[in-house]
Amino acid sequence: SGPTLGNPKNTIEILQKYNFSFQKKFGQNFLIDTHVLDKIIRAADITREDMVLEIGPGIGTMTQYLAEASGKVIAVEIDDNLIPILADTLGGYENVQVIHDDVLKLDIRELAERENGGKPIKIVANLPYYITTPIIMGLFESHVPMESITVMVQKEVADRMQSGPGKKDYGALSLAVQYYASPYIVANVPPNCFMPRPKVGSAVIRLTRYKQPPVAVKNEKLLFQIIRASFNQRRKTLVNGLANSGQIPLTKEQIAEGILTLGKGAGVRGEALTLEEFAKLADYFQDQIQ
Ligand code: SAM
Repeated sequence: SGPTLGNPKNTIEILQKYNFSFQKKFGQNFLIDTHVLDKIIRAADITREDMVLEIGPGIGTMTQYLAEASGKVIAVEIDDNLIPILADTLGGYENVQVIHDDVLKLDIRELAERENGGKPIKIVANLPYYITTPIIMGLFESHVPMESITVMVQKEVADRMQSGPGKKDYGALSLAVQYYASPYIVANVPPNCFMPRPKVGSAVIRLTRYKQPPVAVKNEKLLFQIIRASFNQRRKTLVNGLANSGQIPLTKEQIAEGILTLGKGAGVRGEALTLEEFAKLADYFQDQIQ
C-alpha cells in the first residue's frame, strides 16, 4: 500500500473531511512534500529494529512513513482536533500508538524504558517551533535512552546548534547541544514544503547522541551555569559577564584568574571559547569554590 499522505491534494482532502482549522498556538505547519519526507526518513536511519518517538504527528503524514520503516512508532500529539484524524489516517498501521498529551509534560525517559526495554530509541519530528529548545534540551537533560534526534527546526536554530567559536550565531544553545550530541544539518527546507507556509526558512538537523560527553567536568551544573552566564550579556567581556551574572560564587579576581589559566587575554568574550575551554574553566572554578 504505502503512505497515502504527503502531497497537497491528500492533505487538503483530509483537512476538509474533518473541517480542521490550523492552530497557530500549536505551531502547526504540515509537511506536503514527499521528497522532504523521504530525506528525513533516510537521515534518521531507521530500521525494523527501531522504536521511533514522533513529536507532533499532525494529521499523521510523517507517521505513515515512519510506520513503514520502523518496528514501532509512538506519536505524541497535543491537539484534540487531530486525534480523530490520526485514528483515520493511521488506522491501517498496527505498529503505531498515538498518545494524546503535551510532550513537555510527558515522562519520555520512563516511556522509552517501558516501551523499548531500555534499548535506545530514535526521535523524529517536524517540531512545533515555539518549543524547539525546551523539547530538545529536555530530551538530553532527562537522559532519555536515545541514539539520535532527527528534526525539522527553524533554519536559524539549526545553524545555531551547529555553530562554533567566533561565529555570530555561536552561543549557549550550540554548546549545550554539542555537549550531548554531534549535529549535522541534513537539508534546508523552504516554506512552500509546508501547509500553511511558515514565515521562516526551515532545516532538518540530525543530532547523534554521544555515548560519553566529549569533555569530562567535575560539576556539570556549574558548566552550564557558566555557559549561560557568558552569553547572557554578549557585548560584555567574559570576566564582567560572569562577575555580574550573580551565578558564580567567586570574586571578580578569582574569575579573572580562571580565565588567565586558559591563556586568554583579559578582554576575551564568551563567544571565543570552545566547549573544552568552558570545561576547563568550570573545573578551575569548582576547585576554587570547594
Ligand atoms: N508532523 C506533522 C507534519 O510534519 O505534517 C505536523 C508538524 S507541525 C510543525 C507540529 C505538530 O506538533 C502539530 O501537529 C502540533 O499540534 C503538535 N504540537 C504542538 N505543541 C505540542 C506539544 N506541546 N506536545 C505535543 N504535540 C504538540
